[in-house]
Amino acid sequence: MVTRTRRQLYQRIRQRLTAANLEDAAAEAGFLLEFLLEKPLPQLLMDGDLPVAEQTVQQAERLCEQRANRYPLQYLLGTWEFYGLSLQVGEGVLIPRADTETLVDFVRFCRQGEVQTKLLDLCSGSGCIPAAIAAHLPQVTGSAVEWESAAFYYLQQNLQQYAKEMQPIQGNVLDAVFAKRFSGYDIITCNPPYLTETDMQVLQPEVTFEPETALYGGTDGLDFYRQVTVYWKDALAAGGWLVYEIGMGQEQAVAEILWQNGFSDVVQRIDAGGIVRMVAGHQKL
Ligand code: GLN
Repeated sequence: MVTRTRRQLYQRIRQRLTAANLEDAAAEAGFLLEFLLEKPLPQLLMDGDLPVAEQTVQQAERLCEQRANRYPLQYLLGTWEFYGLSLQVGEGVLIPRADTETLVDFVRFCRQGEVQTKLLDLCSGSGCIPAAIAAHLPQVTGSAVEWESAAFYYLQQNLQQYAKEMQPIQGNVLDAVFAKRFSGYDIITCNPPYLTETDMQVLQPEVTFEPETALYGGTDGLDFYRQVTVYWKDALAAGGWLVYEIGMGQEQAVAEILWQNGFSDVVQRIDAGGIVRMVAGHQKL
């Protein structure tokens, strides 16, 4: 049996991921080594000649195998960074994407100078949106709603860590009667499933491991915007904002839905890739 050093293990992981044609093989190898040895990469490589336990080498081989089959890196690691926070993730919950940081920036901007914010996050998933907002604004209270049990577990964990004043609620955002129980929110955020039937046929292999319920938004991807806007608009306080994440090219249609539901202003924001990623509607004061 060959003993491997840290540096050799790092190289081995990189080679396997490169051979599997993964685009960011080097970066991913770094993440995996940190995960396996529970230390930051620079520190690990400073003592790169230290031997690694055989058990760890075997675990590395198993992780590489899964990753080569396009199982998401984030699920293997069990945590992923969003807006500077380390969130818990795993099968059954949508992996937080950098695109969604657009919504957090907007809410911070809307609420700057306010001493408290009552926030409602719908289709919350991992809870990345309320966690990041609560970590950056004073006194954020309210609720985060998620229907799927597997995702709800992660929501509870992440709110417990980053947004203790936010209550996780397991419920169906498409249930009009349930929605009536909520009122007086300054901000409602929602990153619903919005992929179209066509989008679903050309998913990246990694995304096929993520829950379809978090991805598929009906034939044209707009089912949730139509229903959520109608059911939840009355949960806003006067002057409140309904803030949606949207898919590429959906801004016109979602803005139209907001106008039709009596929102007085509708604004858009682009993500770091230059795509309109957010549409928000303002209730009259
Ligand atoms: N942004 C996700 C993707 O492109 C979709 C998530 C969603 O539908 N909210 O994979």
